Amino acid sequence: MPVENKRLSLFGVPLPLVKGLAFTLKTFFTKPITYQYPEQKREPAARWRGLHRLKKDEKGLLKCVACGLCEAVCPANVITVEAKETPDGRRFPDRFVVEVTRCIFCGYCQEACPKDAIELTTNYEFCGYTREEFHLGRDVLAKT
Ligand code: SF4
Ligand code: SF4
Repeated sequence: MPVENKRLSLFGVPLPLVKGLAFTLKTFFTKPITYQYPEQKREPAARWRGLHRLKKDEKGLLKCVACGLCEAVCPANVITVEAKETPDGRRFPDRFVVEVTRCIFCGYCQEACPKDAIELTTNYEFCGYTREEFHLGRDVLAKT
């Protein structure tokens, strides 16, 4: 036999249902907010995970040392890193590609990077006509 909880009901109607209906009613009479995109842009939340960026140091060099950790940790397997060394022994990514169409924007690459060399920006505006256009290379990612 069901036990009636009086604190969870209002005149016999379950309180969560009343709250839900009240919210629906309030929203129904609220003026809708419409952004006239792309003229009007909505500011994404600070924690928004958008397009990747390869960060640079104060000398303007890529911070990435091509260790491959982001490539290894990526659950969607969309990062390709190929390392090279300068004559003075500094490692850098000769090739760094992110296949953005398959990326799930989890942010693991950013978290795994030991050099703070990659980040997900708040940029959500990227488009193209072919898949290849979404294979973003090192130089494009450095300019994001
Ligand atoms: S955000 Fe996630 S899925 Fe996308 S490249 Fe980074 S680790 Fe891979
Ligand atoms: S971005 Fe960071 S984790 Fe990825 S290869 Fe470069 S240094 Fe390593």
